[in-house]
Order: sequence, then C-alpha cells, then structure tokens
Amino acid sequence: MESKIWLSSPHMSGKEQSYVNNAFETNWIAPLGPHVNGFENAIQDYLQENSHVAALSSGTAAIHLGLILLDVGLGDEVICQSKTFSASANPIAYQGATPIFVDSEMDTWNICPEQLEIAIKDRIKKGKKPKAIISVHLYGMPYKVDEVHAIAKAYNIPILEDSAESLGSTYKSIKCGTFGDIAALSFNGNKIITTSGGGALVTKNIKFKEKAIFLATQARDKAVEYLHSSIGYNYRLSNVLAGIGRGQMEVIDDRVSARRANYDFYKESFKSINELQFVDEPDGYFSNRWLSCMLTPSEEIREGIRISLEALNIETRPLWKPLHQQPVFKDAPRYLNGVSDKLFEKGLCLPSGSNLTNQDLDRVTSAIKTYFRA
Ligand SMILES: *Cc1c(COP(=O)(O)O)cnc(C)c1O
Repeated sequence: MESKIWLSSPHMSGKEQSYVNNAFETNWIAPLGPHVNGFENAIQDYLQENSHVAALSSGTAAIHLGLILLDVGLGDEVICQSKTFSASANPIAYQGATPIFVDSEMDTWNICPEQLEIAIKDRIKKGKKPKAIISVHLYGMPYKVDEVHAIAKAYNIPILEDSAESLGSTYKSIKCGTFGDIAALSFNGNKIITTSGGGALVTKNIKFKEKAIFLATQARDKAVEYLHSSIGYNYRLSNVLAGIGRGQMEVIDDRVSARRANYDFYKESFKSINELQFVDEPDGYFSNRWLSCMLTPSEEIREGIRISLEALNIETRPLWKPLHQQPVFKDAPRYLNGVSDKLFEKGLCLPSGSNLTNQDLDRVTSAIKTYFRA
C-alpha cells in the first residue's frame, strides 16, 4: 500500500522549533507569555485594518466568547449559515440560545443574502429580532461581504465572522477576518496554519479584545485575592503553542500560494472531464483555497470517487453536511432554498495540504481519471 495522502495535514516550516525551544529555555510554559503577544502582533500586522487579536485555545472558544461579547444569552436567537462545520453553531447552544439556519447561494456556497433577509424579517415578525449573524467564508471562499453586511446594517444586527477556514483570503483586497464586529480564526491541525490547536478572536473594538482576554483567563477582577464578579473560562492560548504560531505566520503567504496551486492543478487536470465542476472566484474575491472542492454529477458518483480513492489510501471528504440536516439541530428553525443540500450531495473535498508533493497530486488526479474511464 502506498503512503497515506491526507486531506489537509500540518506543515511545519522549521522556524517553529526555535520559538518553542525559547519557550522552554525561558520556562514560559503557561497560557500567557511573550510568544502569545508576539503571535497576536504577527496576526494584527498581517490582517491590518486596525485589528486587535486575542489568541485563544480554539476557534470554537473564539466564537463562544464572541457571542458572549455580543450579549447572546438564554432564549436569544442567532442566525447561522447552515452550510458549515458544527463548531460554527455549537457555541450558540452553549449560551442557551437557538440557532436559526440560513441556506447558501451558488456563487460562493456561503450564506444567501436573499434567504438571510427573509429569515430576519420572519423572526422579527414572530417576535424576536436575531441577536447576531454568524457568516462563514467556507473552504476559504469569501462570502458576499457587501450584500450580507448591508442587510445586517439595515436591521442593526452585529456579525460574527467565522474566518476559521479563510486566513489569507481577501475580499476587494481586504483580509477576511476583519469584516465582522467580531471574527474567529482557527489554528487547528488541519487549517491553513496551525498551532496544533488554537484560535483567535479578532475585533476593531479594543474593549472587546480586553474583555475577551479577561473572560478567557477565568474572569479575575482586579484584587489581591481571587475575586470574581462574572463567570470565567480557561480559553487562553499557551505560550508554547503560540511559539508554533509565530513560526507559521512567517510562512503564511507560501501556504496560501501552495493551496491555490493545488486547486489550479486539479482544475487543469480535470478540464476534459465534463462531469467535474469547480467554482471560480467572482471578481474581487480571493480564496486561500484551504480545501480544493469539486462538484460531481450525483451523490452516487461522489461516493464512487471517494471510495475508490480510499482504497488507494487517499483521503477525501464530502462537503460539510448542512447543519439543518444534523440530528442535534433537528428542531432549529431554518430558511432553505435547496442549495446546501444539493452541494452536500454532489461535492467532494480533495487532498489540499500545502505539503503535498507533485507525486501525491499525480496519484490523486490519475486515480480520479481512472474512475471516469472505468
Ligand atoms: C475549524 C472550524 C471551526 C472551529 O475551530 P477549532 O479551532 O477547531 O475550534 C469553526 N468554524 C469553522 C468553519 C471551522 O472550519
């Protein structure tokens, strides 16, 4: 059996080790320290737009604290893009709030502005104005920022931008992660850069950053003794892991280029297979191509490809199952147009790591070409 080709595996540059060694040498093995600040500064410099960054233990923690900062609590409603990973919506449930799922559009596969407005109007009519909107740049493709934010503004609803998959993507030359009132980044092991596990909350509001760090470090009031007037969390990123992140931030642009090159290679390789479709970037959109995805004609063919690649030790994965289809969210209200269901049926994510070799990529494309000749 040939070696395993993963969907998206960590890709160290070699620069991480010296930061980690420095954490050991200086005994900063804590959920705070100079690498945490250095990592935050590196992300701020990269994102620009007066971003303030709080490094956290995960992207999920960033979404959770983001909802708390936006005052989401028991009984509230929060609109969430249905086509996404469960971690976009789980923190809504942590807060005792209800997710309201909204379907996608075909250009970017992200939240559909028309359905979004229908949902907002209907929730208001039913008696509750949504407290926040969670919109996601799925697989690195920016959502329709202008349209979605114009609607949010018209109804005066804040946006929590889930940018977990889109570090390095831009919309009209502005980095994703800087559009929402609050944004979340993830540095999980399979993301475009990783700290093995980690995340960040991004905001232009310095008060939000300060409050996020306060809540993430057990909400200790200013006092000699341990004094608490609010419920805290243990969500800060460790200094050791932030050291990995500093090394990764030095190579982020290379990682984006490599993932985009994978996508271009797949698209070019399959141009004569009419059954396979790729979604190009609309004008003004720049995707980090975190995962290269393609649409097949049917669920049957999607599964046929997936299973035949699995037999060759090549990992692929269906697109995210829409959250409105998840058993755990079966009672959540939803506003659907059929797009996310259709994408889920037909779509497949291909191996997309920045460390794939030409040989790996050839193995993937020849396996798929073989499937279509068969
Ligand atoms: C990975 C991911 C998250 C969660 O990030 P973690 O760091 O794994 O907690 C949230 N939303 C989306 C869309 C993701 O892909």
